[in-house]
Amino acid sequence: MDNKMYNRLGICNEVLDFSSAILDELSERFKEIDEVAEYNQCKVISAMQENRVNATCFAATTGYGYDDVGRDNLEKVYASCFGTEAALVRPQITCGTHALAVALSAILRPGDELLSPVGKPYDTLEEVIGIRESKCSLKEFGITYAQVDLTQDGGFDFDGIRSAINERTKMVTIQRSKGYQTRPTLSVARIGELISFVKSIKPDIICMVDNCYGEFVEKTEPSQVGADMIVGSLIKNPGGGLAPIGGYICGTKECVDKCANRLSAPGLGQEVGANLGIMPSFYQGFFLSPTVVSGALKGAVFASRAYEKLGFKVVPNSTESRHDIIQAVELGSKERMVAFCKGIQSAAPVDSYVTPEPWAMPGYDSEVIMAAGAFVQGSSIELSADGPIREPYAVYFQGGLTWYHAKLGIMMSIQKLYEEGLIDLKL
Ligand SMILES: *Cc1c(COP(=O)(O)O)cnc(C)c1O
Repeated sequence: MDNKMYNRLGICNEVLDFSSAILDELSERFKEIDEVAEYNQCKVISAMQENRVNATCFAATTGYGYDDVGRDNLEKVYASCFGTEAALVRPQITCGTHALAVALSAILRPGDELLSPVGKPYDTLEEVIGIRESKCSLKEFGITYAQVDLTQDGGFDFDGIRSAINERTKMVTIQRSKGYQTRPTLSVARIGELISFVKSIKPDIICMVDNCYGEFVEKTEPSQVGADMIVGSLIKNPGGGLAPIGGYICGTKECVDKCANRLSAPGLGQEVGANLGIMPSFYQGFFLSPTVVSGALKGAVFASRAYEKLGFKVVPNSTESRHDIIQAVELGSKERMVAFCKGIQSAAPVDSYVTPEPWAMPGYDSEVIMAAGAFVQGSSIELSADGPIREPYAVYFQGGLTWYHAKLGIMMSIQKLYEEGLIDLKL
């Protein structure tokens, strides 16, 4: 492309040359990503066709939302696509944490135990479970929690898991994405292995997968390898950037029914919950999701290769297989983290003029910096970066509604580091 347009956006020719050399190395990786996206696009279209999606699905409902055709049919589309008996896909599920909290409290009863065989869960779940004290946590309801960490090399501790499972173990939670940790993200195949192992010890354990950031990264989802429930947020992958709110739970009829009764009220279940006119964005966002995810993945691979070349540790590295859209870059200093985030921010279509600064956030023991210029507040399928200001000074980078925007954001981050003399651009 003509450098002039990039120059106008603030990127110099040195950074453009560096980036284009990196991109030349990535064509094979990009081809694989496109291939998965093409498969998943067909998968979504097929689910929509099977369920005869039509214009009545896009109508708004109000009040109780009885006989909401659009809502009910969307849930069938999700179920078909993810290979489950049922699905709950609602704007009344406010975020990913809420979806996970609904799923956990729908299944667990006083005296039951929840087990995480993959180490510490996502930060916000600590309060849901009661690992950190919180009002209305599962712990307050007499539900206990057990955890088995991954082994040093990121494997499952099968012996540890076997001995952790007891007569009270009712449910297992498996987080697919690494979240803000440095452990590897789990592939769908490995999740399948883990579920088989758990069920071989105690077949009636309910296995839930926190699928956040993982949807459409591979050709299959954890629900197709034995998970009783998969759970995620619509302002991440499956909302395709268009859904302005929402979460989903897909799984067995029994589990989804319990979740619906927990979300609304016992007896009401899935029958209530007006869609308030939000359906077009849910359908169209799901339709676009495989392509949006592929753009975000290309951005992650590009960032990984570029920062690897610049001498930084990146997780995952540029040749590893990918199972979520998150890229971690260990920048080694606060100055570099700030410059990186400034770059991401100044590449945004929204709030590009804002300067991100580190600040103390509730719940964190160090300052945090965030860069996001999103159409949907907090949406992390849109280009965003954040990280706690502490060793190893890692930024977590994700999203990008289009590959071109992700590319611009990464080039802009390199530009800011370069301008401030914080990197050496030699290839
Ligand atoms: C984002 C995320 C959550 C929580 O989702 P929110 O929408 O931020 O509440 C839970 N688990 C993982 C792995 C996530 O990435």
